[in-house]
Amino acid sequence: MESTSPALLDVHGVCRAFPKAGGGELVVLEGVDLTLNQGEIVGLLGRSGSGKSTLLRLISGLARPNGGGVTYLGQPVDGPARGIAMVFQSFALFPWLTVLENVELGLEALRLPPDEIRTRALAAIDLIGLDGYESAYPRELSGGMRQRVGFARALVVHPNVLLMDEPFSALDVLTAENLRTDFLELWSEGQLPIKGIILVTHNIEEAVLMCDRVLLFSTNPGRVVTEIKVPLRQPRDRQDPNFAALVDRIYVEMTARRTDRLAPKLDRIPGTGFAMILPEVPVGLISGLVEAVSAAPYNGRADLPEIASDLQMEIDELFPVVETLQLLRMAEVEGGDIKLTETGKRFANEETDERKRIFARLLIRYVPFASHIRKVLDERHSHTAPKSRFVDELEDHMTPDMAEQTLRAVVSWARFGELFAYDDDTAMFSMENPA
Ligand code: ADP
Ligand code: MG
Repeated sequence: MESTSPALLDVHGVCRAFPKAGGGELVVLEGVDLTLNQGEIVGLLGRSGSGKSTLLRLISGLARPNGGGVTYLGQPVDGPARGIAMVFQSFALFPWLTVLENVELGLEALRLPPDEIRTRALAAIDLIGLDGYESAYPRELSGGMRQRVGFARALVVHPNVLLMDEPFSALDVLTAENLRTDFLELWSEGQLPIKGIILVTHNIEEAVLMCDRVLLFSTNPGRVVTEIKVPLRQPRDRQDPNFAALVDRIYVEMTARRTDRLAPKLDRIPGTGFAMILPEVPVGLISGLVEAVSAAPYNGRADLPEIASDLQMEIDELFPVVETLQLLRMAEVEGGDIKLTETGKRFANEETDERKRIFARLLIRYVPFASHIRKVLDERHSHTAPKSRFVDELEDHMTPDMAEQTLRAVVSWARFGELFAYDDDTAMFSMENPA
């Protein structure tokens, strides 16, 4: 039966680019393919900025792709599609409307008779566990309950497809887990008026807990690189070894891509090669991770999922630090493990002064943009240079936002390594210790 019904959604070859301020374009999505079948929860797992929200907007018809297309039940989506509803990270609830009135708003566009609006809204409120709060105002509700109002507002239209954009990520751990559990129970029991779900998340465990398939999304540009099936029965148990094995496998896949992605980038750009977009990772986090991996029980090598949960870091926080360690050759990643190099181990065991010297040498060797700034300052008589000079150079290769981020990263690293100094008030670079 299910094999003969058309896919709920079919996304084929979708591309999306935005014009860059200095000309050219930023390609955010490139050749994205995905299918959502009846009865499925499909996860889209990727880091911030990989284009996940952009993709959901294209699927729901709120925006149009530059290439490729989306079909919903076999029909091209070319405007806001009836039957597709969204759940966001947080909802703009109207503070002057009650819970009931906020949920009824979801039905505004459908032009239903008033008593049907009321009946449906009450049913949605009941379903999502807000019974008794119909006449409460948003300010009287906890964050978790406000998010439930958001869910009710999406469900009240009885959509076929629910697109969920990090719906649990603004909630505290316990509240998020409660809402996930309640939601999954309703879904598994067939009580939700929906036929399929796309869940966008950057939380690996959440993806394994909720989804039938997880699509791993790469960054720059965003595309689906791998699909991982989750053949575990609901309700799932985070303690189940099969659950842990899947979480582990996703870490391996995601970090394997990282290494491929960083290495060629170092010399892919012609000339000075400084057009790398650098993550803004504080030196404190870099030292912290090196120390943690170096110490017992890891002693130089750690399983990434394990150390992530040990340090209570989500992938969005952990991966940039790991990437920076790879970039500086302080650590390597293989098979989902992070392993300190000899330099990394030495760094872990030294006092601050020696750490600074090691760090400065690594910056000069492996961060072309840092050594470029240092060289310019060395060569100039005044040993100073304005920020604008370097921003211009970066903006030939990246968006102004990325240039600003890259500059901030380099400045904070160089400050620790005492490679050069930057004064925010005058917007001038200068030599910390002229040769
Ligand atoms: P994610 O949801 O995975 O965090 P987004 O889809 O929000 O990622 O954004 C992906 C990239 O697209 C980001 O670099 C963002 O700055 C860029 N972007 C998104 N929308 C626009 C827009 N309307 N104009 C220009 N750039 C945009
Ligand atoms: Mg997003």
